[in-house]
Formats: sequence, C-alpha cells, structure tokens
Amino acid sequence: MTEVPAPTPSRCPYCGKNVASLFNPASVRPPRKGDVTVCVACGGICILDKDMHVCKATREQLMNLCEEARRELFLTSKVIQAAKNERRAQRN
Ligand SMILES: [Zn+2]
Repeated sequence: MTEVPAPTPSRCPYCGKNVASLFNPASVRPPRKGDVTVCVACGGICILDKDMHVCKATREQLMNLCEEARRELFLTSKVIQAAKNERRAQRN
C-alpha cells in the first residue's frame, strides 16, 4: 500500500474534514487522477480530479465502474457511516 500526502488544501466535499493523505489499500501503486475513494470520516464516495483533489463522484462516474468495484465502494461507505452513527449514539 502506497500512501501519498493529499494536495493542500484538500477537504472532503461531503463533510468538510481535512484530507491529509490518500492511499490505495488494494494496490502497491500510489493513487492517481480518476481513482475513486471513500472518505474515512463520513463514508462519502469521492473521485480524484486532475490535481488529486477529492471531488464528489457523479452517478455517471460510478456507473462506469465494474459492478464488483461499485459494490465494494458502497459497502465500505456503509461500514464507515455505521461506525460513525455508532460513535455518535455512544456519546449521547
Ligand atoms: Zn467526508
């Protein structure tokens, strides 16, 4: 897994959290433009633009992915959202 620093400033387009780094857990190659990613803070599904900033992934971009990749993305997003909701419930 190769982790690279995110360009500065870089914020999640869904939750606004600072994006400190980018990594591809399924590959040894570093992330590159056009890669789809999931925000670990909120589960938002994003895509890296030409400058490696995270942007909201469009429906069309997601539909261009193979079904297995799309399924894994949505599952990862749901797991992160569930963990976030559980942490919130424990605080209340
Ligand atoms: Zn986020």
